[in-house]
Amino acid sequence: MSRTVVIIGGGYGGAAVAKALESEPEADVVLIDPREGFVNAAGSLRALAQPDWAPNMFFPFETLLPKGTVLRDRAVSVDPGGVTLASGDRVGADYVVLATGSSYTFPAKPVSDSIGEALDDLRRTHRELLPAQRVLILGAGPVGLELAGEIKQVWPDKHVTIVDPAKKLLPGFRPEVVADLHHQLAAQGIQVRLDTTLTEPPSTGSGRAETVTVTTAGGEAIIADIWFRAYGSTVNSDYLADGKLTPRTLDGRVPVSGHLTVQGYEHVYAVGDLTDVPEAKMAGYAMQHAEVVAQNITAQLNGRPPTATYQPLGHPMILLPLGPNGGVGQLPSPEGPFVAPASMVAEFKGADLFTGRFTGQFGPTAAEGW
Ligand SMILES: Cc1cc2nc3c(=O)[nH]c(=O)nc-3n(C[C@H](O)[C@H](O)[C@H](O)COP(=O)(O)OP(=O)(O)OC[C@H]3O[C@@H](n4cnc5c(N)ncnc54)[C@H](O)[C@@H]3O)c2cc1C
Repeated sequence: MSRTVVIIGGGYGGAAVAKALESEPEADVVLIDPREGFVNAAGSLRALAQPDWAPNMFFPFETLLPKGTVLRDRAVSVDPGGVTLASGDRVGADYVVLATGSSYTFPAKPVSDSIGEALDDLRRTHRELLPAQRVLILGAGPVGLELAGEIKQVWPDKHVTIVDPAKKLLPGFRPEVVADLHHQLAAQGIQVRLDTTLTEPPSTGSGRAETVTVTTAGGEAIIADIWFRAYGSTVNSDYLADGKLTPRTLDGRVPVSGHLTVQGYEHVYAVGDLTDVPEAKMAGYAMQHAEVVAQNITAQLNGRPPTATYQPLGHPMILLPLGPNGGVGQLPSPEGPFVAPASMVAEFKGADLFTGRFTGQFGPTAAEGW
C-alpha cells in the first residue's frame, strides 16, 4: 500500500526530494508551494541585468513533477498527521518534509509566486536600472558582489559602489580567495567600501530610478541614481509558530537530527535553509540534505530502517561569479579546501548559473512560452 509523502516547499531541497521520490512505487508524492515553479535563485541577478535570459531561472512544476501531485497553496499549520493550507484544505500525510527555505529581498529572490509576474518585475526593474549611471549596492556578501559583476558585464561604464559595515570580504575563506576577489573587483572598476556604515538608510526604495544621497558615518556623501538592498534573508517558518509540530530556534529554524528528522519524530523531516544544521545556508547543501531524506524515506517505505545521515563540511565553500567569465571559488577536496580559478568558477556556475544542471534534473525551463 502506497504512503503519502507531503513535501512543503519546492525550492532546491524540496523539489529534489519530490523528484527523487516521485518514481518510488510506494510513495504518493504531494508537493505544496504557492509558487508556479521551481526558482533557481542563483540566476536572479543575471535575470535582472539580462531580462531576455530570465525565463531560464524558472522551472514550471507541471513539467518538473509529471507523476506527483502539486498543490499551489501555502502551508499555514503543520502537525504530525498532516498540513493545513491557506485555502482551508487539509492534507493528511504519512511522511512530511519541511522545505520552506528562506526569503531574500528582490531581485535576489522573486516577490511574486507567478512566473509571468516575476518576469514582469525583473523587466520593470531592468528599465529602472537602464539609465542609471551611479549604482549603489548595500551589502558586500555574495549577492551584492554577484549583482555588481552582472551589472558591469552588461554596462561596463556604469559606476558601481558596494558599501558594507563589515571589515573584510568573505570572512572565513582562504586569503588567496579574498585577495583574488579584491583584484578582480578592482579590475572591473567596482568600488568596494568596507567598514562603512550609513547614518540613515536611503530615502528612496530599493531598485527605483531616483537620485538619492546617503551619508557615511565618516561624513562623506555618496550620490546614486539607483540603489539595491543586498542583505538580510528571512527564514520561512511562520507556519510553525503555533507549536503544533516543533519548537523553533531563536532565529526561526527547525532543530534536526543527523538523519534530518525533526527532533522527536521518525516520519517528519526538514531540509535546506530552514534547518538548524550548523553551516552556511546554501542550495548545494539543501540538495545534499534532499538526497539523505529521499534515501531515508525510501528505506522506511520499504520496511527498512533509515540509515543515511548528513554531516556538514568542516570548512566553507563558495562559487562566486563576477559575470559569466570571472569570479572566485573555494571548493572541498579530500585534502581540504582548494582555491578554484576563475575558469573553473565560470565552468561550474558563471557560464549558465546552473541552468544546464537543473534542466537535466528538473526538465525544461520557462524559456518557452513566457
Ligand atoms: C542571488 C542568490 C544566489 C545564490 N547562489 C547560490 C549558489 O550559487 N550556490 C548555493 O549553494 N546557494 C546559493 N544561494 C543560496 C540558495 O538560494 C539558498 O540556500 C536556497 O534557496 C535554499 O534552498 P531551500 O530548498 O532551503 O529553500 P528555497 O529555495 O528558499 O525554497 C523554499 C520554497 O518554499 C516555498 N514556501 C515558503 N513558505 C511556504 C509555505 N508556508 N508553504 C508552502 N511553501 C512555502 C517557497 O515558495 C519556495 O519555493 C543563492 C541565493 C541567492 C539569493
